[in-house]
Amino acid sequence: MAYLTLKNINKIYPNGYHAVHDFNLEIEKGEFIVFVGPSGCGKSTTLRMIAGLEDISNGDFLINGNRANELGPREREVAMVFQSYALYPQMTVFDNIAFGLTLQGVDEEVIERRVKKTAAILGLTDYLDRLPRALSGGQRQRVAIGRAIIRKVGVFLMDEPLSNLDAKQRVTMRSEIAQIHQETGATTIYVTHDQTEAMTLADRIVVMKDGYVQQIGSPYELYFNPVNVFVAGFIGEPPMNFIRGTVKGGKISFGKNQLDVAAKLGNKAAKYEGKEIVFGFRPEAIELGSQSNAYQVKAVVELTEMLGDNTNIYITADEDKAILKVDPHDTPEVDTDIAFSIPYESVYLFDGETEMVIQ
Ligand code: ADP
Repeated sequence: MAYLTLKNINKIYPNGYHAVHDFNLEIEKGEFIVFVGPSGCGKSTTLRMIAGLEDISNGDFLINGNRANELGPREREVAMVFQSYALYPQMTVFDNIAFGLTLQGVDEEVIERRVKKTAAILGLTDYLDRLPRALSGGQRQRVAIGRAIIRKVGVFLMDEPLSNLDAKQRVTMRSEIAQIHQETGATTIYVTHDQTEAMTLADRIVVMKDGYVQQIGSPYELYFNPVNVFVAGFIGEPPMNFIRGTVKGGKISFGKNQLDVAAKLGNKAAKYEGKEIVFGFRPEAIELGSQSNAYQVKAVVELTEMLGDNTNIYITADEDKAILKVDPHDTPEVDTDIAFSIPYESVYLFDGETEMVIQ
């Protein structure tokens, strides 16, 4: 039996807004689950329903198979880390971390031991006497995480915990959160709009859009087997390129290049004659020059971005545009012609109407 079960969970706010539709998920003990999607897609609402901070309008939430919809936050044994650290400014780091245990009337010696252990995990040992205002943003966020993990609850819920940090601190804290999870093995549900955070932290990612779950899978599954245009475009940076076109004579146009749909779809291609399809390929999935078992494309270089470890090439082929990611040593001149190949196996075709991947 799964540890946590969300069965057809819906949220309709009092103003009638239907924020979450039929959310289904089973979470095993120890899993790191990330909810990802654009702002407003229902991630926080779902997390808050799991926390018991928001009523579930419809559906069942189970803990170890027992219905928990009506349990309050404390009875659910969850700890939440919010975007704003919400530390007590007049309390030291030690007291902030200890706060939950102090409230519970836990023995002072036990508190001291557990605060020290938590501080050691988080690299806060030298800061226990400080007030929050004398800490950096990253250190404050660690205190907030410490306050949650010291409680030894079943589930950690984190709502965009890194969004108040600068880019560098975010990367550091991200790896620390991964490490803390490895050390504590605690079930974690983490909300972010950042696909890189999702990809690097998650055992499984839940991609959401407009209140609907789009796909649930490991980072590998989402990157290599996206079910629709949205997931394909959301996971990966720079995002997957999409060329929309109507199939004519078995081909779609990418600028003046005529791409044979049957090369990818085989005898299923005939079904799409006269219909719109979306031709998708990742910037990093191309080869410069001509290769076998690949679509051949000619285009013009509009702009190049040398990023050190790679170069992004912005290309145009008439009205169609795409980004290619290449080795920096292969950076072409702007305004020159470029020829590249997209291996058939790296191409994704989507139904233009449903936007679902064509299998
Ligand atoms: P996310 O976390 O993905 O950014 P939220 O779960 O916060 O999204 O919000 C989902 C949708 O529900 C948004 O359109 C938001 O405006 C709406 N919403 C959030 N809280 C309320 C509320 N209390 N009343 C009505 N609508 C709300």
